[in-house]
Amino acid sequence: MIKAPDKPLTSLVNLEQPLSIEGYIEAGGYQGAEKALHHLSRAEVLTLVEDSTLKGRGGAGFPTGMKWKCVPMYEPGDINAPECKYLVCNADEMEPGTFKDRVLLEGVPHQLIEAMIIAAYTIGAEKAYIFLRGEYHLAARRLQQAIDEAYRNNWLGEKIQGTDVHLDLYLHSSAGRYICGEETALINALEGKRANPRAKPPFPQFSGLFGKPTVVNNVETLSNLPHILKHGADWFKGLSPDSDAGTKIYAACGRVKTPGTWELPMGATIRELLYDHGGGMLDGLKLKGLLPGGASTDFLLPEHLDTPMDFNSIAKAGSRLGTGGLIVLDDHNCPVSMVLNLLQFFAQESCGWCTPCRDGTPWAVEVLSRIEQGQGNKEDLDTLAKLCDFMWLGKTHCALAPGAVEPLKSALKYFHDDFEQHIDQGCCPYHGGH
Ligand code: NAD
Repeated sequence: MIKAPDKPLTSLVNLEQPLSIEGYIEAGGYQGAEKALHHLSRAEVLTLVEDSTLKGRGGAGFPTGMKWKCVPMYEPGDINAPECKYLVCNADEMEPGTFKDRVLLEGVPHQLIEAMIIAAYTIGAEKAYIFLRGEYHLAARRLQQAIDEAYRNNWLGEKIQGTDVHLDLYLHSSAGRYICGEETALINALEGKRANPRAKPPFPQFSGLFGKPTVVNNVETLSNLPHILKHGADWFKGLSPDSDAGTKIYAACGRVKTPGTWELPMGATIRELLYDHGGGMLDGLKLKGLLPGGASTDFLLPEHLDTPMDFNSIAKAGSRLGTGGLIVLDDHNCPVSMVLNLLQFFAQESCGWCTPCRDGTPWAVEVLSRIEQGQGNKEDLDTLAKLCDFMWLGKTHCALAPGAVEPLKSALKYFHDDFEQHIDQGCCPYHGGH
């Protein structure tokens, strides 16, 4: 019996040379899939995942068991059953400041394949896709190699390990747009269409890829499954002192001493992340603010350092856990310039479908550029506030523009003096400190 690891997701990660299928099996790999396929019914695996309270790690934190439960299930021979269901792994990791899935994709690809076997079995999918960020070339090579090994060893293909379970797994590298990470845009891209998000509902679980029931789960979310199968729901919940179970792969970037990724119990505080693991700020710099979960979250301040990085606590502090990747702003960096940089990214990545996003993001870029160059006026601040409202949830086709607004809206609130100084002094007070 292999001891249950306290860092289950990354304990087998090797970024130099990931484990071959033999090495992975020797280290206890594929035992979770073996248990699911040979010893548990689909309903039992679903109950286990629901009991574990696993929440999605892509950014939204939707309960995984609940998502799977939405997929219609049919008795054998039911004439209403669709001829196909799909599982899609969302590996299109393009959120700025986010590089946690890359560690799993490059470092332990068989863990993801095992996870996808478990998920596909549970929802009754016989075809699965990994939709991979276009720039992740090393991950693509390693994943394809692992997929080929899994086919050769009958962990993929027909009658997996002597069962009636069949799964074909395809790797699809994205052509490279941020919006492809939105699950319905991703589905359109997989179908060969332009990657515009679809209206939801219907959710993909009912009508997804090629109109068939489809589950889209993030890499980190899926990677928990082999461990939940092996060690149980109570073990998973016990990994974290918090109400959100399990571990989380957190990250930090910006001008900190040791930027990187760390798997920690869900609910580690921002202080632990930044100082114990990120090494603190570079010498001579002070923490001014941070985005806790990638670019599309609200700024938090040094006063929030003791906030646990879990879904509820970060929401109570006024932001979102998102991807758990901290983007750190120091006191020598201009917040107006930082927000301008982010809005330029979002404006470029807007799919152009809805007016608030298509016109609002470049408009915000125009106003922010003016302010940053010292040519702004007080009315510009009102315009930015109005734009934040214009691009908010419920007024846009998908979450891109509301996500873009989060750092802008919170920067206007927390760093208002910096905006005012640009206007009053007619220049950037940071003297090119970025
Ligand atoms: P969402 O809340 O709309 O959906 C999250 C998931 O839950 C989806 O799979 C959706 O199908 C499901 N869901 C939601 N409501 C449901 C319901 N009523 N019934 C059944 N299923 C339901 O969020 P989203 O727009 O998919 O994702 C937004 C998040 O993505 C943001 O929080 C952001 O942080 C994150 N994000 C991550 C990256 C990345 O690179 N990892 C990039 C961009 C954005």
